[in-house]
Amino acid sequence: MKIYNTLSRQKEELQPIQGNDVRMYSCGPTVYGFAHIGNMRTYIFMDLLRRALKSNGYNLTGVMNITDVGHLTSDGDAGEDKMEKGARREGKTPWEIAEFYTNAFMADCGRLHIDMPEITPKATDNIQEMIDYVQELVALGYGYETSDGIYFDIAKFPNYGKLSGINLEDQKSGARVEVNVEKRNPADFALWKKAPKEHIMQWPSPWGMGYPGWHIECSVMSRKYLGEYFDIHTGGVDHIPIHHENEIAQSEAINGGNPAVKYWMHSEFMMVNNGKMSKSLGNVWTVTDLEKMGIPAMAFRYFCLNAHYRNKLNYTEESIRAAVISCGRFYEGAYAHKGKDGVVDAEVINKALADFFEAVNDDLNVPKALGIAWNLIKTDVKSDAVWQALVKMDEILGLDLAGYEPQKAEDDQIPAEVQELLDQRAEARKSKNWALSDEIRNKLSDMGYVVKDSAEGQKLEKK
Ligand code: AMP
Ligand code: ZN
Repeated sequence: MKIYNTLSRQKEELQPIQGNDVRMYSCGPTVYGFAHIGNMRTYIFMDLLRRALKSNGYNLTGVMNITDVGHLTSDGDAGEDKMEKGARREGKTPWEIAEFYTNAFMADCGRLHIDMPEITPKATDNIQEMIDYVQELVALGYGYETSDGIYFDIAKFPNYGKLSGINLEDQKSGARVEVNVEKRNPADFALWKKAPKEHIMQWPSPWGMGYPGWHIECSVMSRKYLGEYFDIHTGGVDHIPIHHENEIAQSEAINGGNPAVKYWMHSEFMMVNNGKMSKSLGNVWTVTDLEKMGIPAMAFRYFCLNAHYRNKLNYTEESIRAAVISCGRFYEGAYAHKGKDGVVDAEVINKALADFFEAVNDDLNVPKALGIAWNLIKTDVKSDAVWQALVKMDEILGLDLAGYEPQKAEDDQIPAEVQELLDQRAEARKSKNWALSDEIRNKLSDMGYVVKDSAEGQKLEKK
């Protein structure tokens, strides 16, 4: 299997460190709000990689952390702790926030058929390990104390920047006005932060009460669960320049200069109308939002399968609606072969299967593999052997073809005119036009639907 290694900037043949075992770490969610569909694209990438590794017979151990402390609103050391921000927004404790959004994340992963890593540790369950690790770094001369925390001294780590290709001098000259004058170098980053009294999440440490930096958790948990040198580390491309450079600095410092990760893999971003997805632009959706728009989770997954993970994926209303239609056709087309006794040359089917898995094994070329599945679907003769091959391919695609039921799919589909009325009603409610809202509700009722209003918006049920 070939995979693209961000570190070497080329495709490499995967050669596990130890026999048939593949140990893989994936940066997980910060659980202070709902994950958006951009985040979920990155986890679908992780899922496809897991499925591909398993289909190649590797014995896979995956770890994905749950960040429930320490991730500040900037990826550096500035801003507020995201968990505390979430807690203040909702009038809850950070622990309640973490529990709620961890469950929501797991539910979204379930709906998207994401094959979950074997181990999903929480940062807050590993505080002592993080303190020990920071102490080790300090003892080795890589960490130093300031009035507000313990920092990593990147001048001690000459390889800093090797993943993203940035160098320290560029960073220095490009750095904005340095606010923390106690830091030796602007790019030094916090390993541990001393907590002001009002900081809710804090733990005793050799440096007084405090909380861990964000980057340290991944170095600590990957070492704890996967050892000091493991095979694959994944994340989104935004993590390359700061988070993963910092992880490399910490882990290699602990490892006596030896690498902790053999292959770094990163998935590209999801864009919206070719621009950035952000809350302030109002263009952030969750899987639940999509479902309310009549876009099933599986159609979103199918949408993601159409782009290579190293290419940007542009979300537009038009492209996702198109994916809903082709996804439906994919299920229908495949199902048309189920149980049919037409005869298709075994060679044709075997070639399709071989080509499919060859594409998957070529740095996860899933769009190409999907095209091969489509060609097989289009075979004129309808044959159960084709269906069986498609179900085999679905071990990678993850669309649960085997569980497809045409009648249920039809029942779940919201007709366009009903969706239009729902959208009009949402608008009416936004502008507090209750009369129109009720009128539309009655219209929908005549069409056989009940609309319920909840905090998350309108819910549609068939009578
Ligand atoms: P966070 O919870 O902010 O740490 O992000 C979780 C994951 O989503 C990280 O691996 C990010 O790299 C990734 N991510 C964030 N925004 C996007 C996006 N627009 N498209 C794809 N991945 C993203
Ligand atoms: Zn991480």
